Amino acid sequence: MPTKRLLSDIISITPSNYDDFTRCARLFYCTALLGLPASDPTPSTDQGLQMHDMLRKIHDDGECHDAAHVADVLVAHGFDTPAFREMVARHANRCPSRAVESSAHEVDVARFHRFPTPMFMATARIDAVWIHDGYLDARDYKTGRKFTDAVADIHSAHVQAYALAAHAQARGLRLRLRYEYLQPEVDEDPEPWELDDETLITVEEELRAAVERMWAQDEWRGVAEVEVCRTCRYRSICRDSAAPGEAAWPVLSTDPAGRHS
Ligand code: SF4
Ligand SMILES: [Zn+2]
Repeated sequence: MPTKRLLSDIISITPSNYDDFTRCARLFYCTALLGLPASDPTPSTDQGLQMHDMLRKIHDDGECHDAAHVADVLVAHGFDTPAFREMVARHANRCPSRAVESSAHEVDVARFHRFPTPMFMATARIDAVWIHDGYLDARDYKTGRKFTDAVADIHSAHVQAYALAAHAQARGLRLRLRYEYLQPEVDEDPEPWELDDETLITVEEELRAAVERMWAQDEWRGVAEVEVCRTCRYRSICRDSAAPGEAAWPVLSTDPAGRHS
């Protein structure tokens, strides 16, 4: 089957699949188009998801600055550990909640691009959105290691910014995107990204051009670079891998009669 048929008329881009595409077209193909499960281990996201959940619950019915309330929430959900307490405290130091007019956690945003073609739909789930001082201040909570010193350099942030921008513009607010690193090993957050109209036009064109490159793909050739492939979740099964190994997923064994076990 021609691989273009796997693309839908309106391609959906998300922060993670756009990040994949910027790393390697074949990585995007394996994940977004084929939906393959990872053949190689990737870092666990459990702690990050639990932390996101605790921050949402803490803000749902109280304040992150209220130590007694934070302790109640963590104890009630079985996460009253030094690591979680420290991450909440690090968040509270950056939290604008005392100045906000409104806020929401785990907000789904979407924005459709029609012209110039190709069309695409950008979607993103934003960890927290705070409205204060004329800003739509969007936050992405991070519990892993830091890769860059500026949010503007993070590809996935470009999809988040594009999808959020319509909401900021509709309310007459400036858009700021900040990544909050909650692990104590990270000294400073990357430089937050404040986007003016000109920057947003550039981001939209960047995403449109990426979707155009997707349509131009025939073979979804991989980058085949050791530095990129060695951390790839498909490195053991990818035909273009520069770091092949043994797949970690359970492999069915076949007996001589052809029966699987
Ligand atoms: S193993 Fe390398 S070439 Fe293959 S999908 Fe992953 S990054 Fe791309
Ligand atoms: Zn807070």
